[in-house]
Amino acid sequence: MPVLSTAVESLVLHARAIQEIADECAHQPVLEVCGVLLGPTGERVAQRTLSLRNADDSPCAFSVPGYELRRARATAAMLGLSLIGLYHSHPGGSPLLSGGDREGLEASQLPWLIIARDGDGCLELAAYGWPHASPMQVVIRHQELR
Ligand SMILES: [Zn+2]
Repeated sequence: MPVLSTAVESLVLHARAIQEIADECAHQPVLEVCGVLLGPTGERVAQRTLSLRNADDSPCAFSVPGYELRRARATAAMLGLSLIGLYHSHPGGSPLLSGGDREGLEASQLPWLIIARDGDGCLELAAYGWPHASPMQVVIRHQELR
C-alpha cells in the first residue's frame, strides 16, 4: 500500500523580498500587482522580487505579457538567480487561489505567492505549490538585529 507523504513544502522569503512586495502593494492598493520571486537555482528561497506589468490593469485579475517574462528571465540571469515563483496581490480580497489562479499555477509550473490586503491595510501572505496547488508553509528569513 503506498504511503502518502504529509510533508508540507516550504517557500522561504527573505525579509527584503517581503519588503519589496509590501512597498509595491502600498504604492498600488487598487489594482493587482504581480511579479516574480528570484532565488538560487533549485531552491525555494526568494531573495528578492521583480515587479512585472499587469497587462489586465484590473483589481481582480492579472496577466503577464510574454515580453515581461523574457525581461524577468534576463534580469534573473544577470543576477545569477532563477525564477523560483510568481507573486500577485488580491487587493481587498482573501489570499485564496481563484479558479483562474489555479489554472495559471499549473501552467507556470512554479510556486505562487498571493498577497491579500484586508480592510485595515494589513497584508496576508499565502503560498501554493505546483503541482496540485497544495498549500505551502511560508518561512520568513529575517536577519536578527544585534
Ligand atoms: Zn489571484
